[in-house]
Amino acid sequence: MTETSTPYRELDLQPLAGQWRAGSDRRLLDVFDPFNGERLLQLQMANRDDLDQAFNAARDAQAAWAAMGPSARAEVMLNAVKIFDQRQDEIIDWIVRESGSTRLKATIEWGAARAITLEAASLPSRVHGRIIASDVPGKESRVYRGPLGVVGVISPWNFPLHLTQRSVAPALALGNAVVVKPASDTPVSGGLLCARIFEEAGLPAGVLSVVVGAGSEIGDAFVEHPVPSLVSFTGSTLVGRNIGRIASGGDYLKHVALELGGNSPFVVLADADIEQAVNAAVVGKFLHQGQICMAINRIIVEKPVYQAFTERFVERVKGLAYGDPKLAETVVGPVINARQLEGLQQKIAKAKAEGAKVLLEGEAQGNVLPPHVFGDVTADMEISREEIFGPLVGIQCADDAEHALALANDSEYGLSSAVFTGDLERGAQFAQRIRAGMTHVNDIPVNDEAHAPFGGEKNSGIGRFNGDWAIDEFTTDHWITLQRTPRPYPF
Ligand code: NAD
Repeated sequence: MTETSTPYRELDLQPLAGQWRAGSDRRLLDVFDPFNGERLLQLQMANRDDLDQAFNAARDAQAAWAAMGPSARAEVMLNAVKIFDQRQDEIIDWIVRESGSTRLKATIEWGAARAITLEAASLPSRVHGRIIASDVPGKESRVYRGPLGVVGVISPWNFPLHLTQRSVAPALALGNAVVVKPASDTPVSGGLLCARIFEEAGLPAGVLSVVVGAGSEIGDAFVEHPVPSLVSFTGSTLVGRNIGRIASGGDYLKHVALELGGNSPFVVLADADIEQAVNAAVVGKFLHQGQICMAINRIIVEKPVYQAFTERFVERVKGLAYGDPKLAETVVGPVINARQLEGLQQKIAKAKAEGAKVLLEGEAQGNVLPPHVFGDVTADMEISREEIFGPLVGIQCADDAEHALALANDSEYGLSSAVFTGDLERGAQFAQRIRAGMTHVNDIPVNDEAHAPFGGEKNSGIGRFNGDWAIDEFTTDHWITLQRTPRPYPF
């Protein structure tokens, strides 16, 4: 288990262009514990000058980092994995306090971030170029695969450590330099901790910078900046669309990786094991208060089992402990902030106004919203159409399996999905007809493994994370030919 290590200090400073210092914006950012409102940190934000310095330093440091070779870069990743183990309690504690995560969710997140770092250690030696045939006499034709250069990473607050690390670790391992902009609610677990870990692991100064600043001050400038070749963004579809527009329509064209919102359907077919399906639905919906891009957003149940599933689901959800995320027994903790809570309360009011049947509800205490369940939900209601990102869910009744499939596909999103059935092959066939990047048969839609492709279709994004897919994402091809004999030109 954990060895004793001195906790990281001066987390109110940012690693900017190789130096830990305060940002140059006069504005201060307060970081609060979403459960009890305690101020955890106050830091001075970065401005555009800081951003410029960070990107320029990354550009200057990148070539030497890439030249260090695969073993040296792998070693930094393996050192980081050791630090994840030594600092497990400290890291989990930050995730709990900064993002209102239950201990269970924070431990899952720590494990996922550790796993992608371990996977990243294998990536430097998995990059291969090719020698291909040429139609030109005397020509040797090679394809070199190498780093993109500088990668800009923008991450959200819900799984801050993991969703930052899943871009940062592979990008660095593959020889890129990185600048991260974490979400304002979670600057520590979404960036500053990663930077402290990599610094301790031996990453050279300047290769990784973290800029903590207001989206309004540095958001567009981050994407428009001439230095990054790729912007790897994880967040909402609304912001992601804007980033895609700027990255492809500005002065400097760049690659984008967009991991955006979801609206996961959870389909229960009539031949499913209802108890198993209920157990899965409870976890797939309420883990981290439903604030997961892959979380169940719509439960779709075939008519013959609708009643039995719904009754059992409500019974189970009634028993979930909600409140202080620091207590081991808590399953549903606070949502991230008061603004998010207000948005969820508006969604609840809208669901009622649209005729959804209230099966379970409760009053918010602080930022803790007790689980809400609605029955008789239809596909045109707002809770079916929009991403909820909170502890409420609607159940829809499908006439038959084909209708369930049509309902599952009736969404602009296509990130994750799940189907429960007593026949796995039938499940696989059903899964192939769901338009999504990920579908899990007889499991929850919330699944992520460091070597399996993670990503969405439709308005859920562009690109894939993890394993071989991360190599595609964070490197690029360079075709180089050698004309070994003089070429007979036509004129
Ligand atoms: P968000 O889009 O509001 O913010 C994400 C990040 O973008 C933050 O760092 C924010 O500061 C930054 N940002 C905001 N405006 C910007 C701008 N104009 N230019 C540049 N950056 C800007 O999302 P959020 O509320 O932090 O996170 C929740 C959303 O993220 C949900 O929609 C969820 O589904 C999605 N998400 C997707 C995945 C995935 O892998 N597909 C994973 C987690 C979360």
